[in-house]
Amino acid sequence: MAEINKELEQLLFGKVLTPQGLIEHGVIAVSGEQIHYAGDAAWLPERYAHWPASGQATDLLIPGFVDVHVHGGAGHDFMYSDTESLNAITKFHSSQGTTTMLATTMTASKSAIDQVFSEVSAYRAAEMPYTQIAGMHLEGPFISPKWSGAQNPEHIVPANIEWLAQWENDYPGMIRQVTLAPEREGALEAILWLRKHGITAALGHTDASFEEVIAAADAGLNQAVHMFNAMTPLHHRKPGAAGAILFDKRIRAEIIADGIHVHPAAISILTRLKNENNLLLITDAMSATGLSDGEYTIGDLPVLVQDGIATLKDNPAALAGSTLTMIRGFRYLIQEVGLSLEEASRAASLTPAASIGMERSIGSLEAGKRGDILRLDAEFNICGVWIGGRPITTS
Ligand SMILES: [Zn+2]
Repeated sequence: MAEINKELEQLLFGKVLTPQGLIEHGVIAVSGEQIHYAGDAAWLPERYAHWPASGQATDLLIPGFVDVHVHGGAGHDFMYSDTESLNAITKFHSSQGTTTMLATTMTASKSAIDQVFSEVSAYRAAEMPYTQIAGMHLEGPFISPKWSGAQNPEHIVPANIEWLAQWENDYPGMIRQVTLAPEREGALEAILWLRKHGITAALGHTDASFEEVIAAADAGLNQAVHMFNAMTPLHHRKPGAAGAILFDKRIRAEIIADGIHVHPAAISILTRLKNENNLLLITDAMSATGLSDGEYTIGDLPVLVQDGIATLKDNPAALAGSTLTMIRGFRYLIQEVGLSLEEASRAASLTPAASIGMERSIGSLEAGKRGDILRLDAEFNICGVWIGGRPITTS
């Protein structure tokens, strides 16, 4: 490892998607972890010109994806974290373009969630070789038993600020997002606490009415998990949680763009209301993602995967996470929903980065940001992934 201390300097040529738009003849200069230049090749500062170069004019370079809602992949679930499983999950999702993620827990006992904090925190303390785990998203256990979906209802409890405070104290900064049902006991106080600590307060698995969601947004609620799924639907006299999210600009919306969880027309309606920095592409991927059909688990519940569709074994009507990857969701938003490249990229990178307070370091291709870069071909297939300036090899 003679080169271990040498900063890797490189130029990546191609069409470069920057916050100012797509640069046709572009280049990115990366040194060490950071982007030093991203823009028109004609304006590349002389001091970078001799760096080793790769890429061709037809390549498309876009920012790495940020997935704030992912439960696992490649046969592993964050609920059963150890170094081997965290390596497998992050290795798989890095090959699918995810450069930053939140380890997402399920509704489970406090001790089971404690264990995930401990394992993920130890993993983060060492050098993460693949997708960077920015922290955790606690999906439950403060949800509604009526909309539990694939969350185990046995472990549902009222919102508990003592637990949150203990986790925040023991693992400072690790909680980045908490999903709860705002109509439940203690939920509004929990939302105030979360926002005071800079944590995303999201609604999901919720029986809340339109009015209850608006009241929660007044308290600081600022995101909705897997829009349209596991929430009260929109009825024209009773707009429900779905109607409140569409109506209220303070609430960002996560979407699983796999063509299974939500009809493409419903995604299209959503994107007309939530396109401006408040739409987040997520996978909600479970352990079977990247593997073939068969029997798996999500958290501690048995799951059947058929044709890539994951449902609870004991309740085939309940979708149990997805087998979606970020690159497939990104393609779906462009090819089936009709978003522009810029819009799909923002939903997959910059908006989720901002939702976890990291928009100054990741989420777009700009000088000063981390070198999290994807190289795509004309059909949006991934041909290269860089995380912190390092090329990732996953095969
Ligand atoms: Zn989930």
